[in-house]
Amino acid sequence: MDKKTPSIAMVPCPGTSHLIAQIEFAKRLLHLHPDFHVTILIPTLGPPSSSMNSILQSLPPSIHFTILPQVDPHDLPPNADPASLMLLAVTHSLPSLSQALSSLTSQTHHLVALVLSTFSVDAIEVAREFDLPAYVYHPSAATSLAFLLHYPEIDGIVVSRKFGELKLKEPLKLPGCIPLEAQDLSNLIPETSHDFHRTLVQVSKGLHMADGILLNSFEDLEPGPIRALQDVLPVYPIGPIVQNESNISSNSSECLAWLDTQPKNSVLYVSFGSGGTLPQEQLNELAYGLELSGHKFLWVVRAPSDGAANSSYLNAQKDVDPLEYLPKGFVDRTKGQGFVIRSWAPQIEVLRHGSTYGFLTHCGWNSTLESVVCGKSMIAWPLFAEQRMNAALLNDQFKVALRPKVNEKGVVEREEVSRVVKCLMEGDEGKEMGRRMGMFKDAAVKALGKDGASTEAFEKVVTKWENLKS
Ligand code: UDP
Repeated sequence: MDKKTPSIAMVPCPGTSHLIAQIEFAKRLLHLHPDFHVTILIPTLGPPSSSMNSILQSLPPSIHFTILPQVDPHDLPPNADPASLMLLAVTHSLPSLSQALSSLTSQTHHLVALVLSTFSVDAIEVAREFDLPAYVYHPSAATSLAFLLHYPEIDGIVVSRKFGELKLKEPLKLPGCIPLEAQDLSNLIPETSHDFHRTLVQVSKGLHMADGILLNSFEDLEPGPIRALQDVLPVYPIGPIVQNESNISSNSSECLAWLDTQPKNSVLYVSFGSGGTLPQEQLNELAYGLELSGHKFLWVVRAPSDGAANSSYLNAQKDVDPLEYLPKGFVDRTKGQGFVIRSWAPQIEVLRHGSTYGFLTHCGWNSTLESVVCGKSMIAWPLFAEQRMNAALLNDQFKVALRPKVNEKGVVEREEVSRVVKCLMEGDEGKEMGRRMGMFKDAAVKALGKDGASTEAFEKVVTKWENLKS
């Protein structure tokens, strides 16, 4: 009988939220199976960012990590989109990944599996080299997984693939999923000459080759898509796995102290994820709209983008004071009504706080699930990647979020901001959404309980890994 410690290696793709997602997966595994050993092998596009350093410094001692040598920027196409860069960072790191794995296997641990991110599927090739099963941890919705798996087949319904102005013959009907309109997919279906198209095809191919796909969703949230996926592939819904406390140290005490002084269920939390930014005009309209609503708010303000809304996602944020970009006098006028925090908030603590009532969010999947486990209904304000699809799920399927309307220039005007904020915070529709969110929150607790469906799904996978050990 082999007495070595069972061990897995994880390979996230670049991106703060991907690293956080993999760490939280590792913590969940170690919570259920403290005998396991986890090493995270991290491909990088540049020197570690301050947020990455902060995350890694706060890792529990049971989670080990190695930062792989930085990819040479000359090997990357200029102006590639973030998803392609994430995929390529992993592809170019395969030799160093292979080396790192050799040293892991030669220790006292028995490596039983490689766990990848959706955009690190190219590492399946390295898993094969070491005769290891390759699992993908998809840190997003079952619906987005269905989209990626079926991406190469969607041509039949596409009339025009102009990025951002997609035209479809009819809504996209993925097995078990709600029909998706062109506006929900406009950021996800690029022209076929685009790097992003090749990336999506590559990811789709990789997902089909994986030995299993662990999904950060749960049966009561997405029953239709999950069942349809499980009809064709070994898909394990193990979520919701979210951070229990913030992974990044921030100037958190001030904003939590402010929340402590606010009435129960009175504050709207406003944040656009780890790197979402708004153009200056939209930033102004949001500021005036929050002020106009009269409702309390806690806003994580980031300097406006010059270009795409995801321009800060893989790059360091501008070294400027974001508050300087707010309308003149805004901070003074809203003293007492609102609290603004620069660039980063302790999100999970904010969402869990009794004074927080709702969440104006960019609909990143981690933020979505964090809102679910804290039972906070939402205003869906998607910016990039699969966020529009998530917004459609939140609004049309789960019915827990309102969607502000944009004008002909794509801007949400201040009156509209104020309208949706009031509707969420004081209207009957908002109350009904809060009630539904409460149901999902309870279902999430049940799924993660001792005999819950998500725990059982996780145990099935771990049993397979443990059997490989003996
Ligand atoms: N986050 C945070 N504070 C912030 C912004 C983001 O703690 O000010 C965390 C958030 O709790 C979540 C992650 O960063 O865990 C963002 O992930 P998500 O999938 O929502 O969006 P992305 O960053 O990928 O756009």
